[in-house]
Amino acid sequence: MEQAYPVHDHTYDVVVVGAGGSGLRATLGCVEAGLRTACISKVFPTRSHTVAAQGGISAALGNMGEDDWRWHMYDTVKGSDWLGDQDAIEYMTKEAIPAIVELEHYGVPFSRTEAGKIYQRPFGGMTTNFGEGTAQRTCAAADRTGHAMLHTLYQQALRNNAEFFIEYFALDLIMEDGECRGVMAWSLEDGTIHRFRAKTVIMATGGYGRAYFSCTSAHTCTGDGNGMVLRAGLPLQDMEFVQFHPTGIYGAGCLITEGVRGEGGYLTNSEGERFMERYAPSAKDLASRDVVSRSMTIEIREGRGVGPNGDHIHLHLEHLDPEVIYQRLPGIAETARIFANVDVAKEPIPVLPTCHYNMGGIPTNYHGEVLTKRNGNPDEVVPGLMAVGEAACVSVHGANRLGSNSLLDLVVFGRSAALRCAEVVKPGESHKPLPPESAEKALTRLDKLRHAKGDTSTAALRLEMQQAMQTNCAVFRTGDVLEEGKTKIADCWAKRGDLRVTDRSMIWNSDLVETLELDNLLGQAAVTMHSAANRTESRGAHAREDYPDRDDENWMKHTISWCDDSGKVTLDDRPVHMNPLTNEVQQFPPKARVY
Ligand SMILES: Cc1cc2nc3c(=O)[nH]c(=O)nc-3n(C[C@H](O)[C@H](O)[C@H](O)COP(=O)(O)OP(=O)(O)OC[C@H]3O[C@@H](n4cnc5c(N)ncnc54)[C@H](O)[C@@H]3O)c2cc1C
Repeated sequence: MEQAYPVHDHTYDVVVVGAGGSGLRATLGCVEAGLRTACISKVFPTRSHTVAAQGGISAALGNMGEDDWRWHMYDTVKGSDWLGDQDAIEYMTKEAIPAIVELEHYGVPFSRTEAGKIYQRPFGGMTTNFGEGTAQRTCAAADRTGHAMLHTLYQQALRNNAEFFIEYFALDLIMEDGECRGVMAWSLEDGTIHRFRAKTVIMATGGYGRAYFSCTSAHTCTGDGNGMVLRAGLPLQDMEFVQFHPTGIYGAGCLITEGVRGEGGYLTNSEGERFMERYAPSAKDLASRDVVSRSMTIEIREGRGVGPNGDHIHLHLEHLDPEVIYQRLPGIAETARIFANVDVAKEPIPVLPTCHYNMGGIPTNYHGEVLTKRNGNPDEVVPGLMAVGEAACVSVHGANRLGSNSLLDLVVFGRSAALRCAEVVKPGESHKPLPPESAEKALTRLDKLRHAKGDTSTAALRLEMQQAMQTNCAVFRTGDVLEEGKTKIADCWAKRGDLRVTDRSMIWNSDLVETLELDNLLGQAAVTMHSAANRTESRGAHAREDYPDRDDENWMKHTISWCDDSGKVTLDDRPVHMNPLTNEVQQFPPKARVY
């Protein structure tokens, strides 16, 4: 294969795959620590999905009223429906405060209070005093927080001489004896193949929302890193937990941030009723996302949806002061106008729960080190491999992520992964020679898909998979529907062998890119469906109608899942870390759900 595809070699201390918020923060930390670092990205860094994050980033700064990181920790544990690892959650919520100050110093242009402090808005599930009051904890740069963060981090990384490989598509990890030695990539611009050798590879490849038909994420969110990890024979974790955002624009899927409800927006059904008051009397429209999404789905199912088909819900902003919309939510007004033809000052926005975030991903500890379960050890570190951001499952979000905790996860764990690299990687240290066949596996797969001559187009198979996920693995689930979903995904898997790629070139071959992405998505769809069918309880975003209760006795554990080359899924579990990291806070034992 190396004759057909000449390989260009590179050697770095650290290679980061992904230039979203998490990848850029990790890259910046590594270069600041004096490590020679390359960052590979299939899109231009500032086009990563992080750029679309609207609402904000949480931290108990207390700029708008009393706050405490322990309250933030409690909210996150509770939001995770007690599936989050409490050591990692403590680390994240405590480190949130210096992390935001650091972002401010890097130059993120946050919105300000009258007194010049960082502006903070209320967000779903964020409370004061262990659930008593509403916290104003989410720091925002208007409704373009991700945009502001991503541009700032990219500029800082350039300033510190990080080396970027832009529009390079990472294909596969190079693994030897259970250790990660580097990564293979294809340069889309000139068609060349590259082998990156590194002491540590950090996966920062984002989520896999595009496994679903309707999602808020970019077309590039295909979870390529998760796909590579599965092909390396390593497990993914908690893949059954997929977050549906209550307010995707009906039809288009584009996100209307929860910040809208944070600023006073509310939902109504066809009777004009503010129905969230019935489902969550205290948190109302600001209950956590799983609760709001399920309530909306029930309203529609029971015939109280709006529109000619009664299949969506209204989100109102008309009552808000136009100045608030202009100052705090300008992007939303524009999105609603373009995608729903709605003037938010005059009429409500039609919305529907839409796939938004993947709680599951590559299992890691709070240093970002990738874990696997081997020889009975559920926390065995995979040498040379780390994961951060939405690709990772630390697990701070457990069964359900709170809004504004993801941007936080990106910077806190991007930073902690870099700190770990600084500890374990010596700058410029020599590398062991790579095994001679190191490029073979990745190139054979690439070559096979490039020359695929079957009868099924990539777009047709992708649609079949997306519809199966949307129909059989959405907001509400039952055993029968999930079993049917397993068969549908197995059928999709079988059609992988029958794919047709029409463009054989190596330069900007988007047909081949989409096929590689689909191949990555299929493995994730399979483990998501199997993990969901296996978990016979309801927890966080995983709502089983046949098992409506949370079952702590049998299910307070992480699912881990493997998928082999034949599409066969194997499941196992790991314990949840219930102990916090330090004695500054006590363990939060599981509590019944009260909204
Ligand atoms: C519309 C929207 C709004 C959101 N709003 C908020 C919010 O207000 N607050 C909040 O906390 N969270 C929010 N989230 C969630 C949050 O933005 C994401 O979880 C987060 O930005 C993901 O960042 P990331 O660094 O993990 O990956 P991404 O930003 O998705 O970046 C992935 C990177 O990986 C690269 N990559 C992927 N595959 C490959 C490959 N094969 N080869 C090379 N490179 C590759 C891409 O080029 C890209 O650079 C929102 C999400 C969406 C979709």
